[in-house]
Amino acid sequence: MAGSGVFEDIIEGDVFKYYTDGEWKKSASGKSVAIINPTTRTTQYKVQACTQEEVNKVMESAKIAQKQWAKTPLWKRAELLHKAAAILKEHKAPIAECLVKEIAKPAKDAVTEVVRSGDLISYCAEEGVRILGEGKFLVSDSFPGNERTKYCLSSKIPLGVVLAIPPFNYPVNLAVSKIGPALIAGNSLVLKPPTQGAVACLHMVQCFHLAGFPKGLINCVTGKGSEIGDFLTMHPGVNCISFTGGDTGVAISKKAGMVPLQMELGGKDACIVLEDADLDLVAANIIKGGFSYSGQRCTAVKVVLVMESVADALVEKVNAKVAKLKVGPPEDNCDITPVVSESSANFIEGLAKDAKAKGATFCQEYKREGNLIWPLLLDNVRPDMRIAWEEPFGPIVPVIRINSIEEGIHHCNASNFGLQGCVFTKDINKAILISDAMETGTVQINSAPARGPDHFPFQGLKDSGIGSQGITNSINMMTKIKSTVINLPTPSYTMG
Ligand code: NAP
Repeated sequence: MAGSGVFEDIIEGDVFKYYTDGEWKKSASGKSVAIINPTTRTTQYKVQACTQEEVNKVMESAKIAQKQWAKTPLWKRAELLHKAAAILKEHKAPIAECLVKEIAKPAKDAVTEVVRSGDLISYCAEEGVRILGEGKFLVSDSFPGNERTKYCLSSKIPLGVVLAIPPFNYPVNLAVSKIGPALIAGNSLVLKPPTQGAVACLHMVQCFHLAGFPKGLINCVTGKGSEIGDFLTMHPGVNCISFTGGDTGVAISKKAGMVPLQMELGGKDACIVLEDADLDLVAANIIKGGFSYSGQRCTAVKVVLVMESVADALVEKVNAKVAKLKVGPPEDNCDITPVVSESSANFIEGLAKDAKAKGATFCQEYKREGNLIWPLLLDNVRPDMRIAWEEPFGPIVPVIRINSIEEGIHHCNASNFGLQGCVFTKDINKAILISDAMETGTVQINSAPARGPDHFPFQGLKDSGIGSQGITNSINMMTKIKSTVINLPTPSYTMG
C-alpha cells in the first residue's frame, strides 16, 4: 500500500513529504496540495506545497552534492543506478497502485510503466559507461597551415544541476528518462513531479534513496506548477531543464536563461492510410494508438487521414473494435478509464460539441459520466473543425477522408505540431517518400506512433519540442565538451 513498508518515511499524517539532503521533510508553508482521484473525483493523497526558500535550499544542496558526484567513478555511478532499478522493480506494486489512484492508469499498464522505468535506468547505466568512457583525441596537422604540434583531448563533462519536470501521463517513466541520463553523466537532480502523479514519483525517489545515492544528489520538490514552476525554471542554480508536457514548455523556453533545454511537448500525430494498406492492421493500430490510456499519450494517433476509396471499410473495422473496448475504472483494467481531470474532460467535450455542430459523423453516441468519456470515432471531419488540429488528450479519434497522398501530407504539415506520424501501405517506396515529406520528428511505417523502445531517438519538430531524447541522446544532451590541448615545442609525428 502507498506510504507503507519501506515507504513509511515518506508520509506524515496524511501528507506526503518532499525530499532533499537525503531526508524526507515537511514544508514550512504548512500547506498541502490535494491530488484528486480522477475516478472518484475525491482527494486521494496530499503533498507538500514547497516554498521558494525551500527551493533555494534544495538548489544549494544539489549544487554541493554534484561537485562530489562528478568525482565519483563512472562504474560506481552505474552500480548505484542498477541498484535503484532493482529496488524500483521490486516495489512495482505500491508504485503502480499510486498510478491507478492518481492518474487512473489501467492497473496492468501501471505495473508495465514501473518495470519499463527500471529497465530504462539500467540501460542508462550501461549506455553511460560505454559512451562516457570514450573521448576524442585530435591532432592539429589535419587543419590547413598547422604542423602536428597540438594534441587535443576532449571528453564529456556534466552540466551541473538538472531540473526535471515530467507530465502526468507517464510520471514515473518520464521522470526516470531524465533522472537516469542526468545521474550517469555526473549531474545532480531536482525533480518537480506533476501534481497528478506526484505520489508515484515520491515512491520512485524513495527507491533511489534506498539504493544509497549521496545526500543532496537527488531532490524532489512538490507543489503546483502554476505556483512554483516559474521560480524553479528561472532559478539561477539550474544548469539544464528537461521538460515534458504541453504548451507550458513553450512559455518556459521563452523565460529560461542560457541553459540547455530539452523540451518534449504536444503532438497531433497523423496516421496516413493508403489504398493498398492492410486495413485490419490499420484498424488494430488506430485502436492501440488512439485509445490506449484513453488517448492521453503524446504519441497517440490524433488524426486519421484515409484515402476515400478505403475509408468506409476502415471506419467499419475500427468501429467493430471500438465496440469491444472495455470502459470503466482503472482498477478493473478497463481499456478506457476516466481522463485525468474534470477540466480535461470538459475540454474534450468541447471538441466533440464543436465537431457535432460543424457536421462530423458520430460513429458512436457521445457519452460521459464524470471524467469518464466513452471512446468515440468521428468520421467526415473537416479542416474547419477544432478536432482536426487540436490535441484532445482523450478517447476521441477524428477521421478525415482524403483524395490524394499530397492532401494527407499537406494536412500533417499544416499542423503546428511535429512529433510523430505514421503511414500504412505495402509499398515501401511510397512509404519512404511520405516519411521524408512529413515534417515530424519520427515517422512509423505500418505501425502506430510510439515513444519506445526507450533507447530510440525521440524528438519533436516545430511546437513539439527542442532537442532529442532517447537514452543516448539524453545522456549526451546532459553533458558538455571539455578539451585539454597539449602544445608541443616542435612538431612530432608518431612513427610506426
Ligand atoms: P502540462 O500541463 O504542461 O504539465 C507538465 C508539467 O509541467 C507538470 O509537472 C506541471 O506541474 C508542470 N508545470 C505547470 N506549470 C508550470 C510552470 N509554469 N513552470 C514549470 N512547470 C510547470 O502537461 P500535462 O497535462 O501534465 O501533460 C500533457 C501534455 O504533455 C500533452 O500536451 C502531451 O502531448 C504532452 N506530452 C508530451 C510528451 C512528449 O514526449 N512529447 C510526452 C508526454 C506528454 P503541475 O502538474 O503541478 O501543474
